[in-house]
Amino acid sequence: MSFPIDIVIPRLEKEVRGLEVPVVDLIAAQTQDPFKVLVATILSARTKDEVTAAAARRLFDRAATAQELAALSVAELEKLIYPVGFFRNKARYLNQLPEVLATRFQGAVPSSIEELITLPGVGRKTANLVRSVAFMLPAICVDTHVHRIMNIWGYVQTSTPLQTEMALREKLPQQYWLRINSLLVAFGQAVCRPVAPHCDICCISEHCPRLGVTPRKRNTRGRTAMSVGQHFLSWNVNGLRAAVGKGLLEVIASCNADIVALQEIKAQLDQLPKEVLELQGYRQFWHPAEKKGYAGTAVFSKIEPLQVYYGIGTEDIDREGRVLTLEFDDYYFINTYFPNAQPGLKRMDFKQHFNRAMLEYMNRLRQAKTVVLGGDLNVAHKEIDLARPKENRQNPGFSDEERAWMDTLLAAGYVDTFRQFCQDPGQYTWWSYRSNARERNIGWRIDYFVVDEASGARVRDAAIHSNIFGSDHCPVSIRFT
Ligand code: SF4
Repeated sequence: MSFPIDIVIPRLEKEVRGLEVPVVDLIAAQTQDPFKVLVATILSARTKDEVTAAAARRLFDRAATAQELAALSVAELEKLIYPVGFFRNKARYLNQLPEVLATRFQGAVPSSIEELITLPGVGRKTANLVRSVAFMLPAICVDTHVHRIMNIWGYVQTSTPLQTEMALREKLPQQYWLRINSLLVAFGQAVCRPVAPHCDICCISEHCPRLGVTPRKRNTRGRTAMSVGQHFLSWNVNGLRAAVGKGLLEVIASCNADIVALQEIKAQLDQLPKEVLELQGYRQFWHPAEKKGYAGTAVFSKIEPLQVYYGIGTEDIDREGRVLTLEFDDYYFINTYFPNAQPGLKRMDFKQHFNRAMLEYMNRLRQAKTVVLGGDLNVAHKEIDLARPKENRQNPGFSDEERAWMDTLLAAGYVDTFRQFCQDPGQYTWWSYRSNARERNIGWRIDYFVVDEASGARVRDAAIHSNIFGSDHCPVSIRFT
Protein backbone atom coordinates (compact mmCIF):
# COMPACT_ATOMS: atom_id res chain seq x y z
CA MET A 1 0.00 0.00 0.00
CA SER A 2 1.39 3.41 -0.87
CA PHE A 3 1.99 5.94 1.86
CA PRO A 4 -0.95 8.43 2.11
CA ILE A 5 1.10 11.62 1.95
CA ASP A 6 -1.98 13.79 1.24
CA ILE A 7 -3.57 12.68 4.49
CA VAL A 8 -0.42 12.76 6.59
CA ILE A 9 0.96 16.20 5.74
CA PRO A 10 -2.24 18.18 6.44
CA ARG A 11 -2.63 16.27 9.70
CA LEU A 12 0.96 17.05 10.71
CA GLU A 13 0.43 20.69 9.87
CA LYS A 14 -2.37 20.85 12.39
CA GLU A 15 -0.22 19.00 14.90
CA VAL A 16 2.87 21.23 14.64
CA ARG A 17 0.83 24.40 15.16
CA GLY A 18 1.33 23.88 18.88
CA LEU A 19 5.02 23.05 18.55
CA GLU A 20 7.95 25.40 18.37
CA VAL A 21 8.61 26.96 14.97
CA PRO A 22 12.17 26.27 13.68
CA VAL A 23 14.33 29.33 14.26
CA VAL A 24 15.06 30.04 10.61
CA ASP A 25 11.34 30.13 9.78
CA LEU A 26 10.77 32.41 12.72
CA ILE A 27 13.45 34.83 11.57
CA ALA A 28 12.04 34.73 8.01
CA ALA A 29 8.53 35.51 9.26
CA GLN A 30 9.73 38.28 11.57
CA THR A 31 12.18 40.01 9.23
CA GLN A 32 11.24 38.99 5.66
CA ASP A 33 14.90 39.72 4.94
CA PRO A 34 16.82 37.18 2.78
CA PHE A 35 20.15 38.40 4.23
CA LYS A 36 19.08 37.62 7.80
CA VAL A 37 17.59 34.30 6.73
CA LEU A 38 20.86 33.40 5.03
CA VAL A 39 22.95 34.33 8.07
CA ALA A 40 20.60 32.53 10.48
CA THR A 41 20.67 29.44 8.29
CA ILE A 42 24.48 29.40 8.28
CA LEU A 43 24.46 29.76 12.08
CA SER A 44 21.86 27.03 12.53
CA ALA A 45 23.87 24.15 11.00
CA ARG A 46 24.61 21.56 13.70
CA THR A 47 23.35 23.89 16.41
CA LYS A 48 20.32 23.74 18.66
CA ASP A 49 17.58 26.22 17.80
CA GLU A 50 17.75 28.10 21.09
CA VAL A 51 21.52 28.60 20.66
CA THR A 52 21.05 29.78 17.06
CA ALA A 53 18.29 32.20 18.09
CA ALA A 54 20.43 33.81 20.81
CA ALA A 55 23.51 34.05 18.55
CA ALA A 56 21.46 35.55 15.69
CA ARG A 57 20.00 38.12 18.08
CA ARG A 58 23.46 39.19 19.29
CA LEU A 59 24.81 39.34 15.76
CA PHE A 60 21.89 41.27 14.23
CA ASP A 61 22.08 43.81 17.05
CA ARG A 62 25.57 44.66 15.78
CA ALA A 63 25.15 43.90 12.08
CA ALA A 64 21.69 43.96 10.54
CA THR A 65 22.97 44.35 6.96
CA ALA A 66 25.81 43.02 4.80
CA GLN A 67 27.55 46.42 5.02
CA GLU A 68 27.49 46.32 8.82
CA LEU A 69 28.66 42.72 8.80
CA ALA A 70 31.67 43.73 6.67
CA ALA A 71 32.85 46.00 9.49
CA LEU A 72 33.23 43.09 11.96
CA SER A 73 36.47 41.14 12.30
CA VAL A 74 36.61 37.34 12.49
CA ALA A 75 37.51 37.60 16.19
CA GLU A 76 34.49 39.83 16.89
CA LEU A 77 32.25 37.47 14.95
CA GLU A 78 33.54 34.46 16.86
CA LYS A 79 32.72 36.19 20.12
CA LEU A 80 29.24 37.21 18.97
CA ILE A 81 28.15 33.82 17.64
CA TYR A 82 29.80 31.52 20.21
CA PRO A 83 28.67 28.79 21.18
CA VAL A 84 27.04 27.81 17.87
CA GLY A 85 28.57 24.64 16.39
CA PHE A 86 31.81 25.24 14.45
CA PHE A 87 31.73 28.91 15.40
CA ARG A 88 35.27 29.48 14.11
CA ASN A 89 34.46 28.25 10.61
CA LYS A 90 31.17 30.11 10.58
CA ALA A 91 32.83 33.34 11.72
CA ARG A 92 35.22 33.04 8.76
CA TYR A 93 32.36 32.41 6.33
CA LEU A 94 30.38 35.37 7.67
CA ASN A 95 33.45 37.56 7.39
CA GLN A 96 33.84 36.66 3.69
CA LEU A 97 30.12 36.86 2.88
CA PRO A 98 29.65 40.67 2.37
CA GLU A 99 32.45 40.90 -0.18
CA VAL A 100 31.21 37.88 -2.15
CA LEU A 101 27.65 39.27 -2.18
CA ALA A 102 28.92 42.70 -3.28
CA THR A 103 31.26 41.54 -6.04
CA ARG A 104 29.19 38.73 -7.51
CA PHE A 105 25.58 39.57 -6.75
CA GLN A 106 25.38 43.39 -6.46
CA GLY A 107 25.02 43.08 -2.71
CA ALA A 108 21.83 41.00 -2.85
CA VAL A 109 21.31 37.41 -1.74
CA PRO A 110 20.79 35.26 -4.87
CA SER A 111 17.81 32.92 -5.03
CA SER A 112 18.98 30.05 -7.25
CA ILE A 113 20.52 26.91 -5.74
CA GLU A 114 23.44 27.07 -8.19
CA GLU A 115 24.31 30.63 -7.09
CA LEU A 116 23.61 30.10 -3.40
CA ILE A 117 26.02 27.16 -3.13
CA THR A 118 28.86 29.41 -4.33
CA LEU A 119 28.55 31.52 -1.15
CA PRO A 120 30.95 30.79 1.73
CA GLY A 121 29.55 28.24 4.18
CA VAL A 122 26.52 27.44 2.03
CA GLY A 123 25.96 23.81 1.06
CA ARG A 124 23.02 22.28 -0.72
CA LYS A 125 20.88 21.97 2.39
CA THR A 126 21.39 25.61 3.37
CA ALA A 127 20.79 26.75 -0.22
CA ASN A 128 17.49 24.88 -0.43
CA LEU A 129 16.40 26.25 2.93
CA VAL A 130 17.22 29.86 2.01
CA ARG A 131 15.51 29.53 -1.38
CA SER A 132 12.33 28.12 0.14
CA VAL A 133 12.13 30.12 3.37
CA ALA A 134 13.47 33.49 2.23
CA PHE A 135 12.16 33.55 -1.35
CA MET A 136 9.22 31.10 -1.20
CA LEU A 137 10.55 29.46 -4.37
CA PRO A 138 10.29 25.71 -5.09
CA ALA A 139 13.02 23.85 -3.23
CA ILE A 140 13.16 20.81 -0.99
CA CYS A 141 15.52 21.20 1.91
CA VAL A 142 16.46 17.74 3.06
CA ASP A 143 18.14 17.64 6.44
CA THR A 144 18.62 14.67 8.73
CA HIS A 145 14.97 14.77 9.94
CA VAL A 146 13.43 14.85 6.45
CA HIS A 147 15.77 12.08 5.24
CA ARG A 148 15.11 9.93 8.29
CA ILE A 149 11.33 10.35 8.51
CA MET A 150 10.71 9.91 4.78
CA ASN A 151 12.57 6.57 5.01
CA ILE A 152 10.65 5.54 8.15
CA TRP A 153 7.46 6.15 6.19
CA GLY A 154 8.82 4.14 3.26
CA TYR A 155 7.94 7.14 1.07
CA VAL A 156 11.52 6.96 -0.23
CA GLN A 157 14.13 4.24 0.12
CA THR A 158 17.41 6.12 0.09
CA SER A 159 20.77 6.13 1.80
CA THR A 160 21.79 9.79 1.70
CA PRO A 161 20.03 13.16 2.07
CA LEU A 162 20.97 14.02 -1.53
CA GLN A 163 19.30 10.85 -2.80
CA THR A 164 16.25 11.74 -0.70
CA GLU A 165 16.13 15.24 -2.20
CA MET A 166 16.27 13.82 -5.72
CA ALA A 167 13.65 11.16 -4.96
CA LEU A 168 11.32 13.77 -3.42
CA ARG A 169 11.71 16.04 -6.44
CA GLU A 170 10.28 13.18 -8.51
CA LYS A 171 7.56 12.18 -6.12
CA LEU A 172 6.47 14.75 -3.57
CA PRO A 173 3.61 16.99 -4.80
CA GLN A 174 5.05 20.49 -5.29
CA GLN A 175 2.51 22.07 -2.97
CA TYR A 176 4.44 20.49 -0.05
CA TRP A 177 7.99 21.37 -1.11
CA LEU A 178 8.28 24.69 0.70
CA ARG A 179 6.98 23.55 4.04
CA ILE A 180 8.19 19.96 4.27
CA ASN A 181 11.44 20.91 5.98
CA SER A 182 10.05 23.07 8.77
CA LEU A 183 7.20 20.60 9.24
CA LEU A 184 9.43 17.55 9.64
CA VAL A 185 12.09 19.39 11.67
CA ALA A 186 9.44 20.45 14.21
CA PHE A 187 7.83 16.98 14.15
CA GLY A 188 11.22 15.21 14.26
CA GLN A 189 12.41 17.23 17.25
CA ALA A 190 9.22 16.85 19.27
CA VAL A 191 7.58 13.54 18.33
CA CYS A 192 9.35 11.40 15.73
CA ARG A 193 12.70 11.75 17.48
CA PRO A 194 15.79 9.97 16.17
CA VAL A 195 16.09 7.89 19.32
CA ALA A 196 12.94 6.20 20.62
CA PRO A 197 10.24 8.21 18.83
CA HIS A 198 6.93 8.88 20.61
CA CYS A 199 4.86 6.51 18.45
CA ASP A 200 2.45 6.17 21.38
CA ILE A 201 1.29 9.78 20.99
CA CYS A 202 1.88 10.21 17.26
CA CYS A 203 -1.10 11.61 15.32
CA ILE A 204 -0.26 9.63 12.17
CA SER A 205 0.65 6.33 13.80
CA GLU A 206 -2.05 4.36 11.96
CA HIS A 207 -0.50 5.31 8.62
CA CYS A 208 3.16 4.81 9.56
CA PRO A 209 4.90 1.51 8.72
CA ARG A 210 7.66 2.48 11.22
CA LEU A 211 10.39 1.05 9.05
CA GLY A 212 13.51 0.49 11.15
CA VAL A 213 12.04 2.09 14.27
CA THR A 214 12.40 0.94 17.85
CA PRO A 215 9.68 2.91 19.69
CA ARG A 216 10.18 4.00 23.26
CA LYS A 217 8.95 1.68 25.99
CA ARG A 218 7.19 2.59 29.16
CA ASN A 219 8.59 1.37 32.46
CA THR A 220 6.47 0.01 35.23
CA ARG A 221 6.10 3.35 36.96
CA GLY A 222 4.45 4.78 33.87
CA ARG A 223 7.30 7.13 33.05
CA THR A 224 8.90 6.70 29.67
CA ALA A 225 11.96 4.54 30.04
CA MET A 226 13.99 7.06 28.04
CA SER A 227 13.33 9.79 30.57
CA VAL A 228 15.62 8.28 33.20
CA GLY A 229 19.32 7.57 33.51
CA GLN A 230 22.27 8.14 31.25
CA HIS A 231 22.03 7.53 27.57
CA PHE A 232 24.85 5.61 25.84
CA LEU A 233 25.14 5.27 22.08
CA SER A 234 27.49 2.99 20.14
CA TRP A 235 28.05 3.12 16.39
CA ASN A 236 30.48 1.49 13.98
CA VAL A 237 30.83 4.42 11.58
CA ASN A 238 32.93 2.56 8.99
CA GLY A 239 35.24 5.54 8.48
CA LEU A 240 34.84 8.69 10.54
CA ARG A 241 35.55 11.11 7.71
CA ALA A 242 33.01 9.50 5.38
CA ALA A 243 30.45 9.36 8.19
CA VAL A 244 30.87 13.08 8.89
CA GLY A 245 29.98 13.72 5.26
CA LYS A 246 26.87 11.60 5.72
CA GLY A 247 25.57 13.45 8.78
CA LEU A 248 27.38 11.87 11.75
CA LEU A 249 27.53 15.16 13.65
CA GLU A 250 23.84 15.86 13.08
CA VAL A 251 23.05 12.41 14.48
CA ILE A 252 25.22 13.05 17.54
CA ALA A 253 23.56 16.44 18.07
CA SER A 254 20.03 15.12 17.71
CA CYS A 255 20.59 11.99 19.84
CA ASN A 256 22.12 14.07 22.62
CA ALA A 257 23.61 10.95 24.28
CA ASP A 258 25.77 11.24 27.38
CA ILE A 259 28.42 8.93 25.94
CA VAL A 260 28.96 8.19 22.25
CA ALA A 261 31.23 5.24 21.38
CA LEU A 262 32.49 5.05 17.80
CA GLN A 263 34.24 2.11 16.18
CA GLU A 264 36.16 1.66 12.94
CA ILE A 265 37.08 5.33 12.75
CA LYS A 266 39.83 4.60 10.18
CA ALA A 267 41.59 7.89 10.92
CA GLN A 268 44.83 8.96 12.55
CA LEU A 269 44.91 11.85 15.03
CA ASP A 270 46.23 14.23 12.35
CA GLN A 271 43.39 13.26 10.00
CA LEU A 272 40.47 14.11 12.28
CA PRO A 273 38.04 16.55 10.66
CA LYS A 274 38.10 20.05 12.18
CA GLU A 275 34.35 20.09 12.69
CA VAL A 276 34.65 16.94 14.81
CA LEU A 277 37.41 18.40 16.94
CA GLU A 278 35.29 21.52 17.46
CA LEU A 279 32.22 19.52 18.51
CA GLN A 280 30.76 21.27 21.56
CA GLY A 281 29.70 19.61 24.78
CA TYR A 282 31.83 16.46 24.72
CA ARG A 283 35.29 15.46 25.93
CA GLN A 284 36.87 13.42 23.15
CA PHE A 285 39.15 10.38 23.51
CA TRP A 286 40.79 8.78 20.49
CA HIS A 287 42.47 5.41 20.09
CA PRO A 288 43.40 5.02 16.41
CA ALA A 289 45.12 1.94 14.98
CA GLU A 290 48.80 2.21 14.10
CA LYS A 291 47.96 1.17 10.55
CA LYS A 292 46.49 4.03 8.50
CA GLY A 293 42.84 3.83 7.41
CA TYR A 294 42.14 0.82 9.61
CA ALA A 295 40.03 0.00 12.70
CA GLY A 296 40.35 2.43 15.67
CA THR A 297 37.91 3.63 18.32
CA ALA A 298 36.80 6.92 19.87
CA VAL A 299 34.58 7.96 22.76
CA PHE A 300 32.82 11.31 23.20
CA SER A 301 31.64 11.85 26.75
CA LYS A 302 29.63 14.60 28.43
CA ILE A 303 30.66 13.11 31.76
CA GLU A 304 34.23 13.69 32.91
CA PRO A 305 35.90 10.28 33.39
CA LEU A 306 38.17 9.53 36.35
CA GLN A 307 40.63 7.72 34.07
CA VAL A 308 40.97 6.67 30.45
CA TYR A 309 42.66 3.42 29.39
CA TYR A 310 43.91 3.06 25.83
CA GLY A 311 44.00 -0.67 25.07
CA ILE A 312 44.17 -3.61 27.43
CA GLY A 313 47.93 -4.04 27.77
CA THR A 314 48.29 -6.67 25.00
CA GLU A 315 50.51 -5.33 22.25
CA ASP A 316 49.10 -7.02 19.14
CA ILE A 317 45.56 -6.02 20.16
CA ASP A 318 46.39 -2.50 21.28
CA ARG A 319 48.18 -1.57 18.07
CA GLU A 320 44.84 -1.99 16.26
CA GLY A 321 43.12 0.57 18.52
CA ARG A 322 40.27 -1.77 19.33
CA VAL A 323 39.56 -1.11 23.02
CA LEU A 324 39.09 2.23 24.77
CA THR A 325 37.87 2.31 28.38
CA LEU A 326 36.57 5.23 30.43
CA GLU A 327 36.38 4.80 34.18
CA PHE A 328 33.61 6.60 36.08
CA ASP A 329 32.62 6.60 39.76
CA ASP A 330 30.71 3.36 39.71
CA TYR A 331 31.24 1.81 36.28
CA TYR A 332 33.71 1.19 33.50
CA PHE A 333 32.57 2.03 29.98
CA ILE A 334 34.41 -0.13 27.44
CA ASN A 335 34.19 0.80 23.78
CA THR A 336 35.35 -2.08 21.64
CA TYR A 337 35.71 -3.13 18.03
CA PHE A 338 36.13 -6.89 17.83
CA PRO A 339 38.14 -8.22 14.87
CA ASN A 340 36.46 -9.73 11.84
CA ALA A 341 37.33 -13.42 11.42
CA GLN A 342 37.80 -12.71 7.67
CA PRO A 343 36.71 -14.82 4.66
CA GLY A 344 37.81 -18.42 5.06
CA LEU A 345 38.07 -17.64 8.81
CA LYS A 346 41.68 -16.66 8.08
CA ARG A 347 41.86 -14.43 11.17
CA MET A 348 40.02 -16.74 13.51
CA ASP A 349 43.10 -17.38 15.65
CA PHE A 350 43.55 -13.66 16.25
CA LYS A 351 39.85 -13.24 16.94
CA GLN A 352 39.84 -16.06 19.48
CA HIS A 353 42.93 -14.55 21.12
CA PHE A 354 41.12 -11.18 21.23
CA ASN A 355 37.95 -12.80 22.63
CA ARG A 356 39.85 -14.50 25.44
CA ALA A 357 41.80 -11.36 26.28
CA MET A 358 38.61 -9.28 26.36
CA LEU A 359 36.81 -11.66 28.69
CA GLU A 360 39.78 -11.67 31.06
CA TYR A 361 39.87 -7.87 30.92
CA MET A 362 36.13 -7.56 31.62
CA ASN A 363 36.33 -10.04 34.48
CA ARG A 364 39.22 -8.11 36.00
CA LEU A 365 37.37 -4.79 35.83
CA ARG A 366 34.14 -6.33 37.10
CA GLN A 367 35.76 -7.08 40.42
CA ALA A 368 35.90 -3.35 41.12
CA LYS A 369 32.86 -1.83 39.39
CA THR A 370 30.02 -2.40 36.96
CA VAL A 371 31.19 -3.13 33.41
CA VAL A 372 29.32 -1.65 30.45
CA LEU A 373 30.68 -2.80 27.11
CA GLY A 374 29.41 -1.26 23.88
CA GLY A 375 30.59 -1.91 20.39
CA ASP A 376 30.81 -4.03 17.29
CA LEU A 377 31.33 -7.62 18.44
CA ASN A 378 31.43 -8.82 14.85
CA VAL A 379 29.32 -11.87 15.64
CA ALA A 380 25.63 -12.71 15.33
CA HIS A 381 24.91 -14.89 18.33
CA LYS A 382 21.83 -16.88 17.40
CA GLU A 383 19.88 -17.69 14.24
CA ILE A 384 17.38 -14.97 15.17
CA ASP A 385 20.24 -12.44 14.94
CA LEU A 386 20.68 -12.61 11.17
CA ALA A 387 18.34 -12.81 8.21
CA ARG A 388 19.97 -15.77 6.47
CA PRO A 389 21.40 -18.12 9.13
CA LYS A 390 21.54 -21.25 7.02
CA GLU A 391 23.38 -19.63 4.11
CA ASN A 392 25.88 -18.02 6.51
CA ARG A 393 26.79 -21.00 8.68
CA GLN A 394 30.59 -20.94 9.18
CA ASN A 395 30.90 -17.59 7.45
CA PRO A 396 32.86 -14.95 9.43
CA GLY A 397 30.59 -13.54 12.11
CA PHE A 398 28.43 -16.68 12.26
CA SER A 399 30.96 -19.47 12.70
CA ASP A 400 30.45 -22.04 15.43
CA GLU A 401 33.60 -20.82 17.18
CA GLU A 402 32.50 -17.18 17.32
CA ARG A 403 28.98 -18.07 18.42
CA ALA A 404 30.40 -20.38 21.10
CA TRP A 405 32.35 -17.43 22.48
CA MET A 406 29.11 -15.48 22.85
CA ASP A 407 27.75 -18.45 24.82
CA THR A 408 30.88 -18.33 26.98
CA LEU A 409 30.51 -14.60 27.54
CA LEU A 410 26.89 -14.91 28.67
CA ALA A 411 27.66 -17.99 30.79
CA ALA A 412 30.41 -15.97 32.49
CA GLY A 413 27.72 -13.65 33.82
CA TYR A 414 27.16 -10.98 31.19
CA VAL A 415 23.88 -9.84 29.63
CA ASP A 416 23.05 -9.08 25.99
CA THR A 417 21.00 -6.02 26.93
CA PHE A 418 18.96 -5.77 23.73
CA ARG A 419 17.53 -9.26 24.23
CA GLN A 420 16.45 -8.27 27.75
CA PHE A 421 13.87 -6.03 26.10
CA CYS A 422 13.16 -7.48 22.68
CA GLN A 423 12.89 -11.06 21.41
CA ASP A 424 11.64 -10.09 17.95
CA PRO A 425 13.35 -11.35 14.79
CA GLY A 426 14.40 -8.91 12.07
CA GLN A 427 16.33 -6.63 14.48
CA TYR A 428 19.64 -5.94 12.77
CA THR A 429 22.52 -3.50 13.10
CA TRP A 430 24.58 -4.24 9.96
CA TRP A 431 23.66 -4.72 6.32
CA SER A 432 25.91 -5.39 3.35
CA TYR A 433 26.14 -2.53 0.87
CA ARG A 434 25.36 -5.09 -1.83
CA SER A 435 21.99 -6.17 -3.29
CA ASN A 436 19.92 -3.49 -1.53
CA ALA A 437 20.37 -5.48 1.67
CA ARG A 438 19.38 -2.62 3.94
CA GLU A 439 16.19 -1.78 2.05
CA ARG A 440 15.29 -5.48 2.15
CA ASN A 441 16.42 -5.82 5.79
CA ILE A 442 18.77 -8.68 4.98
CA GLY A 443 20.95 -7.87 7.96
CA TRP A 444 22.88 -9.07 10.99
CA ARG A 445 22.78 -8.02 14.65
CA ILE A 446 26.48 -7.76 15.47
CA ASP A 447 26.56 -4.51 17.55
CA TYR A 448 25.74 -4.85 21.23
CA PHE A 449 25.66 -3.35 24.65
CA VAL A 450 26.69 -5.95 27.22
CA VAL A 451 26.72 -5.44 31.01
CA ASP A 452 27.63 -7.70 33.89
CA GLU A 453 24.70 -9.67 35.23
CA ALA A 454 24.69 -8.02 38.66
CA SER A 455 24.11 -4.67 36.95
CA GLY A 456 21.48 -5.88 34.45
CA ALA A 457 18.73 -4.08 36.35
CA ARG A 458 20.56 -0.77 35.85
CA VAL A 459 19.76 -0.98 32.12
CA ARG A 460 16.36 0.64 31.66
CA ASP A 461 16.07 0.36 27.91
CA ALA A 462 18.01 -0.91 24.92
CA ALA A 463 17.41 -0.01 21.29
CA ILE A 464 18.61 -0.44 17.73
CA HIS A 465 18.35 2.67 15.57
CA SER A 466 18.05 1.23 12.09
CA ASN A 467 16.40 4.45 10.93
CA ILE A 468 19.73 6.27 11.32
CA PHE A 469 21.93 6.13 8.23
CA GLY A 470 25.53 7.11 7.52
CA SER A 471 27.34 3.76 7.77
CA ASP A 472 26.72 0.11 6.89
CA HIS A 473 26.01 -0.28 10.63
CA CYS A 474 23.34 1.61 12.57
CA PRO A 475 23.73 2.86 16.15
CA VAL A 476 22.61 0.91 19.20
CA SER A 477 21.88 2.46 22.58
CA ILE A 478 20.99 1.81 26.18
CA ARG A 479 19.59 3.93 29.00
CA PHE A 480 21.58 3.23 32.16
CA THR A 481 20.88 4.29 35.74
S1 SF4 B 1 4.45 6.40 14.28
FE1 SF4 B 1 6.44 6.63 15.29
S2 SF4 B 1 7.92 6.33 13.65
FE2 SF4 B 1 5.97 6.76 12.65
S3 SF4 B 1 5.96 8.97 12.29
FE3 SF4 B 1 4.95 8.59 14.26
S4 SF4 B 1 6.57 8.83 15.79
FE4 SF4 B 1 7.57 8.54 13.77
